[in-house]
Amino acid sequence: MALDAQSIQAAVDAAHRDNAGLQGGANASYIPYLASVDSSLFGVAVVTAEGEVHSAGDADFEFALESISKVFTMARAMADVGPEAFHQKIGADPTGLPFNSVMALELHNDKPLSPLVNAGAMSSASLVKAEGAEQRWQRILETQQAFAGRKIQLSPEVNHSEQTTNFHNRAIAWLLYSGGAMYSDPMEACDVYTRQCSTLVSTKDLATMGATLAAGGMNPVTQERVVAAELVPHMLAEMTMEGLYTSSGDWAYTVGLPGKSGVGGGVLSVAPGKLAIAAFSPPLDPVGNSVRGMAAVAQVAQRLDLSLYKVP
Ligand code: GLU
Repeated sequence: MALDAQSIQAAVDAAHRDNAGLQGGANASYIPYLASVDSSLFGVAVVTAEGEVHSAGDADFEFALESISKVFTMARAMADVGPEAFHQKIGADPTGLPFNSVMALELHNDKPLSPLVNAGAMSSASLVKAEGAEQRWQRILETQQAFAGRKIQLSPEVNHSEQTTNFHNRAIAWLLYSGGAMYSDPMEACDVYTRQCSTLVSTKDLATMGATLAAGGMNPVTQERVVAAELVPHMLAEMTMEGLYTSSGDWAYTVGLPGKSGVGGGVLSVAPGKLAIAAFSPPLDPVGNSVRGMAAVAQVAQRLDLSLYKVP
């Protein structure tokens, strides 16, 4: 299938139409704000490595970035400490366990293994060079904004909902500290991590963030270099390993593209050099992935024949 504008728009429209009636799943309930979002919302978007935008459905509705933020904090921390030190301190292997697992830490001598699980994401936030919480937060927010190409904002409502219920993450932060894998004050890292999860993006923003990776670290809409090209493969590799929680292997098998999802209902996949596909729909499967979001992204990827593992 050719990757011309018409074919891409047709794939996006079909993925929205064919999956809008898909039932199943439930909004994340452990964060009160997420439980309250309209479950019927559904957006699909593609942004190409040249900056063309295609969308269908509720693609301008803004939702909580949540776990997808881990990808962009990874970029910031890797750029700050260098990819070798980042790898050595955090690791790059899937945990094989849920995103907020404490057992994963116990099994691996308190090393987080992946920057895309809560432990590794808090450890990454602690590696960002900063003097204090506000500077740490600003540098992470500016990184998200550069990827999105616009001034996305923290939602005080989401942040309050998370900061007043994130006791499990606080416990993980202290465990990391006791194991020597926390590089700032642990409660500061947990606070900043919670804020990075609480920014609002649209499905189009999410696709633009992914397109910046597809274009090798240059935002194709703003033409700003956001992350060094040599860091992008590390990010895409990690998204393949751990991007869709414990379904990451299934995603590689069926879709064949690096991806990342969040409990806010967002799903992102990147076809390097070509484009990024994003979708949003709040109901999640038991693992934490958006049911309609995954179906839509997979359908676009398959229709446009984008699997990285296809032998030409
Ligand atoms: N803020 C959420 C948490 O820390 C993000 C989880 C996710 O999207 O996987 O639990």
